[in-house]
Amino acid sequence: MKITDIRTAIIRANFPWNLIRIYTDTGPIGLGEAYWGPGIVDVVEKLKPRLVGKDPMEVDKLWTYMMQLMSGPGSIAGATVAAISGIEIALLDLVGKHLKTPVYQLLGGKFRDRIRLYADSHASNLHDPSNWQKRALQVRERGFDAIKFDLDPLVRDMELDHFNRTLTNKAVNYMTEFVAAISETLGPDVELALDCHWSYNVTDAIRLARALERFSLLWLEDPTPPENADALAQVRAATSTPICTGENLYTRHGFRPFIEKGACHIIQPDIPRCGGLLESKRIADLADIHYIPFAAHNVCSPVGTIASAHVCAAIRTFTVLEFHSQDISWWDAVVDREDDPLIQDGYLTLDDKPGLGLELNDDVCRQHVMPGTLYFGETV
Ligand SMILES: [Mg+2]
Repeated sequence: MKITDIRTAIIRANFPWNLIRIYTDTGPIGLGEAYWGPGIVDVVEKLKPRLVGKDPMEVDKLWTYMMQLMSGPGSIAGATVAAISGIEIALLDLVGKHLKTPVYQLLGGKFRDRIRLYADSHASNLHDPSNWQKRALQVRERGFDAIKFDLDPLVRDMELDHFNRTLTNKAVNYMTEFVAAISETLGPDVELALDCHWSYNVTDAIRLARALERFSLLWLEDPTPPENADALAQVRAATSTPICTGENLYTRHGFRPFIEKGACHIIQPDIPRCGGLLESKRIADLADIHYIPFAAHNVCSPVGTIASAHVCAAIRTFTVLEFHSQDISWWDAVVDREDDPLIQDGYLTLDDKPGLGLELNDDVCRQHVMPGTLYFGETV
């Protein structure tokens, strides 16, 4: 079997979903998705002539080849690694289809059939706690037992200086009041995570994390900027609130200092961004040496979400996978799969179909193609 072509499609949704198809001379087509950031299609186009004619069964060798080829443009992070992640996912789907085996089997087999999800949520009127509570109730009623809200936008207009990363007492108290309201609404059986988007200095991150300790959060995400493991390790050491990070780290090398320095209680790689399925499993295994659990960041279509779920099934330490598309009514319709809806009672169930176990619904996808782009090489 030889690779004959690689084509992309960008679907316009809450994020631009970068889909990738790999074609072969013997028939099977692999489907993958790369993280939403810009530049993905350019990287795929750059790699395509170097992959055409290669054997798609040699997934890890091709991944290594792509990382080596792109060392100059920067294959330690960013769109380069995200594009390679999407290609690797399509390769594994292809191998699975060829061997008539689910992808989780290629990753060593599954620890679990059902993948727990948390619902990333946003309130329409930021400064009205009843809006947050209404949203929290909707999520709970849909069957999710874990939910995440963005905390930092709540106090953005209280900032004394946008660039100095400080939090005032007033802001900490205001955030705490909102968290109290949501926690009371959710009750003790639904877990709450809060995202800070890399906003604060060490001292104020600790102050916030300590103020939130009484709510027994699922986690507090990215309280300090993303590049300094030593700084985040100080936060982690100073609070019992679980600290989570990882959505903008890449490969084992990116995660290594955060894992080895004890910079977080939970790692949260974005699987179609950080290096792909095999690399995510390696990251999970590295973290497992330190008994650090693995959550998964995710803003993808069902393709990237289900690809992530295959990893989540195949690693020992998985806890919860993100679902970020509550407001996309056609999210499920992007793929043809027996489960409809794909997410039931807050869980996604993997079946034993070959590869990722799904096919795109081209009719639905064509309706949402990013204007000015081709749909896998065809004009829409
Ligand atoms: Mg985040």
